[in-house]
Amino acid sequence: MNKLKMVLPFIQARWFRRFSSRQALARYQQKALEKQYAYMRTHSPYYRQLPKDESFPFMDKQFMMTHFDELNTQGIKKEEALAFALASEKTREFNQDYQGLSIGLSSGTSGHRGIFITTEAEQALWAGTVLGKMLPKGNLLGHKLAFFLRADNQLYQSINSPVIELAYFDTYHPLAEHVARLNKYQPTILIAPASMLVALAQQIEEKNLALHVQQVISVAEVLEETDRDYLAAMFDLPMIHQIYQCTEGFLGCTCSHGNLHLNEDIVYIEKEFIDERRFYPIVTDFKRTSQPIIRYRLNDILVAANEPCPCGSVFQRIEKIEGRADDIFLFEGKNETTVSVFPDFIRRCLLFVPDIRTYQVTQHSPRLVEIAVDQLTEQQKQQIQEEFQNLAEDLKFTCPQLTFSVYEWNPRIKLKRVARNF
Ligand SMILES: [Zn+2]
Repeated sequence: MNKLKMVLPFIQARWFRRFSSRQALARYQQKALEKQYAYMRTHSPYYRQLPKDESFPFMDKQFMMTHFDELNTQGIKKEEALAFALASEKTREFNQDYQGLSIGLSSGTSGHRGIFITTEAEQALWAGTVLGKMLPKGNLLGHKLAFFLRADNQLYQSINSPVIELAYFDTYHPLAEHVARLNKYQPTILIAPASMLVALAQQIEEKNLALHVQQVISVAEVLEETDRDYLAAMFDLPMIHQIYQCTEGFLGCTCSHGNLHLNEDIVYIEKEFIDERRFYPIVTDFKRTSQPIIRYRLNDILVAANEPCPCGSVFQRIEKIEGRADDIFLFEGKNETTVSVFPDFIRRCLLFVPDIRTYQVTQHSPRLVEIAVDQLTEQQKQQIQEEFQNLAEDLKFTCPQLTFSVYEWNPRIKLKRVARNF
């Protein structure tokens, strides 16, 4: 892979593309959008047949998979790509490409999985941009990254370079093995799903693991505030960074003040508001050309923070990624209505109870909610029960039956602390 191709995006992401105002950003975005639309109207069979005066339609995962063959500009057929990706996943051999492309599967929990393709140039662009935005201020050289991932593909291997070393940790391997390897490798930057970071922090607390990292970056899972504080304490860092990245793009990351911003220099995000501050992002990627991501609606519930950030960036601040649309709990209201309850309300039912850190709440039906925690006293159970009853009264739904079980972490599965199962 051409390492030089990483250099320009790195420089642009790190030192350029600073905008003095939202208006300046809007002008830049408009130009980038027009360029991308024009490219697609020429190179993508799907958009080529779109009438000139018609605007680009919204898409989602279903749409992407249905029109995969016509949408992509590389002439790749969905069935071939899927067969190739499944074979790589089975053997966990991810270093082969398919007609010069990297093919990955998105870990869709909703039955059908998404396929994404990237070219070598796009990988270089991605790697350069991520590094440009995320490497600690000041010292650029000599970093050693430890990168934990559930499934690998070439997209993530592309970081290895003479100035940056990357070690890949497969989350399928046992924790003890990671601990031994990390003690030896001594990364300066640790990147992992939030639940893996918590597990490693516990190893630090138990004195099995000794690290002196300069930066910890949480990826792929919602980072709970309580976990964030615990991680900062255990890793002895002023803040824990986050990357908001999915197969649809590198959508956001934390700034030098630890606040999450959308990457509005590389993606255009329309907001579909759910209430005053919560919204679903609709993403258009300015640079992805092999597989267009244009007006792609994600199921993530984002909470906007509207105060300016002391870092000076004009990019939209995000207070948090609350969860996914399919994890909104559904309860029975009065007169056969359904009451929707956002994941944060469920979270709060547990946060108000002292001494609970690792938990998982699963709704199995409108009448049944399972709460899995490490250990619970009778008093804690009572308190959780009361919190749910209060919530039910406030939001006017029938309080579900609560069952309690023992929480067991499975690093092979993306952890969702609040999940709906029906
Ligand atoms: Zn900021």
